[in-house]
Amino acid sequence: NNGLSRLGQKMAGDSGIVNLMDDLGQALALRPDMIFMGGGNPSRITELEDIFAEKLQAVLADERERHKLFGIYQSPQGELEFLEAVAKLLNEELSWPVSAKNIAVSNGSQSAFFNLFNMFAGRQNDGSYKKIQLPLAPEYLGYADVGVEDDLFVAAKPRIEELDDHLFKYRVDFEELNIGEDIGAICVSRPTNPTGNVLTDGEIAKLDQLARSKGIPLIIDGAYGIPFPNMIFSEARPHWNDNTIVVFSFSKLGLPGARTGIVVASEEVIQAFTNTNTIVSLASGTLGPSIGKQLFADGSILRISNDIIRPYYQQAAESACEAVKQSFGELPYRLHKPEGAMFFWLWFKGLPISSEELYQRLKQRGVLVVAGHHFFVGLDEDWAHKDECLRVTYSQSPEVVAKGIDIIAQEVRKAYQEA
Ligand code: PLP
Repeated sequence: NNGLSRLGQKMAGDSGIVNLMDDLGQALALRPDMIFMGGGNPSRITELEDIFAEKLQAVLADERERHKLFGIYQSPQGELEFLEAVAKLLNEELSWPVSAKNIAVSNGSQSAFFNLFNMFAGRQNDGSYKKIQLPLAPEYLGYADVGVEDDLFVAAKPRIEELDDHLFKYRVDFEELNIGEDIGAICVSRPTNPTGNVLTDGEIAKLDQLARSKGIPLIIDGAYGIPFPNMIFSEARPHWNDNTIVVFSFSKLGLPGARTGIVVASEEVIQAFTNTNTIVSLASGTLGPSIGKQLFADGSILRISNDIIRPYYQQAAESACEAVKQSFGELPYRLHKPEGAMFFWLWFKGLPISSEELYQRLKQRGVLVVAGHHFFVGLDEDWAHKDECLRVTYSQSPEVVAKGIDIIAQEVRKAYQEA
């Protein structure tokens, strides 16, 4: 066991996300010409890079701000001016009754989830064990291994609604969703990675009620959400109250390198989160908040999200949809209704090979996607559907995406014909 502790082995060992990232990385290193539709990297939008560069120049030109960027540890909760700027935006734009005391900064939202999940789930003082309930599987793969203890998640199977035009949509199956005493928090990503689903306002209201009735928080992962980066193509009302923890990220705005996450919660939860963040990170990085303050101050965060990012990804989704129609024709495929984020979730009913085998064959053909079975974290039961889906990222140029989709269709056709 290499002298590693139990936790050391769990975190340093073969976790699903580590294997998957390694596999994608190696494939790409060996064949740089691969069509990369596997990751969660946002598109390169040079217009945005220019705006970020301009804001950074303004920070560098200001002696006081430059010193804060380079030379000062911020408080573990985040710099007060930045927290106030976030609170102001949430007050004014979404009418959320929050102040700086309801907001904390983290080094990327991934690390915020590490803190939050371990705060609310795991072994309790009385010896009992609590888990995080994912009310709708499939869900974000990155949650899978963040538990300090094993087996931190339990997920519920969705209701599948088959729509016209080869589309379908997952719904929370409230009849199946039993929130027992062993649940410490409920968590959903909205929009959802990997499906592009956006839980309806009604579903969120019901989850909120359920969480309140059980005295546990509802965590909403807004990495792709409102008001930024606003990668939502359907109607959805943003939700927050003092029993909700909303987590935002700067990554999908086009700043994954800045590693900035933002947690919005009750003052009590923020205080507890800040203490955990002190232990894990001491303080968060200053790059994201430095640029962020400028983006908030002149309202450009909203302009960027509403006028550049949302239309960009909506257009990308539409042209990818067109490519799917062209290439898949009458194959027995279904596409999850693309309502947000940057992923297509394809479902091949009765596919004679597993999604893992399909992933391997596609890799041979020079197309990298992610096999669907990875995303059913916390759902242990046998269910053929888990092996019939693929996640396809459409953040590359439309030509590259169309080429990739055409190769996927060829391999899927072949697989059905073999049966
Ligand atoms: N949540 C979701 C749904 C994601 O897709 C990602 C990244 O892909 C994250 C959280 C973590 O992002 P970051 O740590 O860059 O904020």
